[in-house]
Amino acid sequence: MCRHMAWLGTPRTLTSLLRDPPHSLARQAWMPRRMLHGKINADGFGVGWYVTAMRTEPARYRRAVPIWTDASFASFAGVVNSSCVLGAVRNATVGMPIEETATAPYAYGRYLLSHNGRVDVDVLMSMLDWTRGAPAPDSRCDSALLAAAVWQRLAAGVSLAAAVAEVVVAAGRADGAARLNLLATDGSQLVATTWGETLSYRVSTDGDDIGMDVASEPSDDSNEWVDLDDHQLLTTDTRDVTISNLI
Ligand code: GLN
Repeated sequence: MCRHMAWLGTPRTLTSLLRDPPHSLARQAWMPRRMLHGKINADGFGVGWYVTAMRTEPARYRRAVPIWTDASFASFAGVVNSSCVLGAVRNATVGMPIEETATAPYAYGRYLLSHNGRVDVDVLMSMLDWTRGAPAPDSRCDSALLAAAVWQRLAAGVSLAAAVAEVVVAAGRADGAARLNLLATDGSQLVATTWGETLSYRVSTDGDDIGMDVASEPSDDSNEWVDLDDHQLLTTDTRDVTISNLI
């Protein structure tokens, strides 16, 4: 299982989000506290962020190496500022390729998506409709196929929350052993699911950093974090958090 996180709010540096907190994503790479499957996340990491003044599509940095080995990321992360950031550290599922293209976040237009879990590749292949116009997945990793299924629905005009929910429920019904925690954004909203793994969120309304954290597990011991139940859909913009049942 991987770990992922997102921030939506006042601009923050990648370092302040991914490296500084006591239980940051960088620390969760080697010492996650709540991961239900697997022990470490050393098969790669990725981060996507938006600079909306320059373009609607996010920038993305992905590597197929442990986050703690990448001194170049550590070097630039402190000077990159963004109001919407999505990061992931990876523990590859057995049989899945270890390569940059298999590493979250996946991207399509202005969208980013990460998957914490596993799902049968044949189930996903049967869900993909190659006439729908979205790009083919660039890796045979289950998560890349899952992202492609979401992209195809977005290309057909479905909203981000509905596309994510539809894909998770369909894949979860077709593969009873699937774990399908997804985290997605278009730069102005976050959408996340729980289906077999942990997820928490925090709303920060005062201080310098106003916004929403959504993460596989809390990045610190503050009691402001709220844990989600299983099989839920969370959507949030900078004002409201909505939680509904997927099934
Ligand atoms: N199945 C995905 C992969 O192989 C995600 C793995 C995970 O959540 N650990 O990358």
